[in-house]
Amino acid sequence: MLTRPLLLLTALTLAAHPPAMAMEGGYPASGHPAATPGKGGEHAAGHGAPAAGGHAKAQAGGHAKAQAGGHGATPHKSGAGQATAPHRKGHRGGKARHGKAAHAHPVHVPPAKPGAVAPADALARLLEGNKRYLSAAFIHPENLAERRTDLAKGQQPFAVILGCADSRVPPEFVFDQGLGDLFVVRVAGNVVDPHVLGSIEYAVEHLGSPLIVVLGHERCGAVKAAVAGGDPGGHIGSLVTAIAPAVKQARASHPPDADALLDRAIKANVHQVAVEMGRTSPILAAFLKAKRLAIRGARYDLDTGVVELVP
Ligand SMILES: [Zn+2]
Repeated sequence: MLTRPLLLLTALTLAAHPPAMAMEGGYPASGHPAATPGKGGEHAAGHGAPAAGGHAKAQAGGHAKAQAGGHGATPHKSGAGQATAPHRKGHRGGKARHGKAAHAHPVHVPPAKPGAVAPADALARLLEGNKRYLSAAFIHPENLAERRTDLAKGQQPFAVILGCADSRVPPEFVFDQGLGDLFVVRVAGNVVDPHVLGSIEYAVEHLGSPLIVVLGHERCGAVKAAVAGGDPGGHIGSLVTAIAPAVKQARASHPPDADALLDRAIKANVHQVAVEMGRTSPILAAFLKAKRLAIRGARYDLDTGVVELVP
């Protein structure tokens, strides 16, 4: 059911982590597909809302629960930061997917760094920034030289944004954030591959980012290409292949017209990327389970500039 090229992260992530930080397979017990969607508040709905497609249910329940806890708790306080992912051999997100090495070591979730932001607070901060963007009440960049000097010593970005490469959707602008605030990974169609996932894992595990937002956008060219189907030529085909499952899911919901199909595919793609990320990365799964991380999907409207959360 998962056909995206997420399968090769093992070597990458192991190379990036010393033995003590290496990972164990499986994904959080609270993220089991049988879990019910989150009910812990407005942010907790997460990916728990119903979605079309054969695997949406499993994704929804599992993901939302982990998120709900993250939003409802205060994971940055002392004592809440230690956790180890459960060992769940044979789970579909585990050994079969990642190979032996993924189960070799447990993921250690270190205590939150001083000044760490809770996942829900990070999300609120982003959405407040989008409101400033909409009203052109920018506060960034501020004191740029001073900030640059501070950041030269180290970074602690409060959110990871996996966004499209589209020139009209720069995360620092649409969320009105400054230097050092966002850890941004951009690729057409905001899809995930091992390099992307490794980058995101680095931000979560080593920089302490408590929130990942997968940011799709209206009229995305990469999703359009996937909807059109066929061979687009060059390496664009790899994007089309990655997005194809979302298009299939969107078609299954019987959209009334081509525009609706495209928009549903954009949202389905965001949803699938967000869910798969948490499920296939033992590192992200461990941080989700420890309530130190939330993963959300969002859609940027090219016409209005509004960022809306995708259920
Ligand atoms: Zn795009």
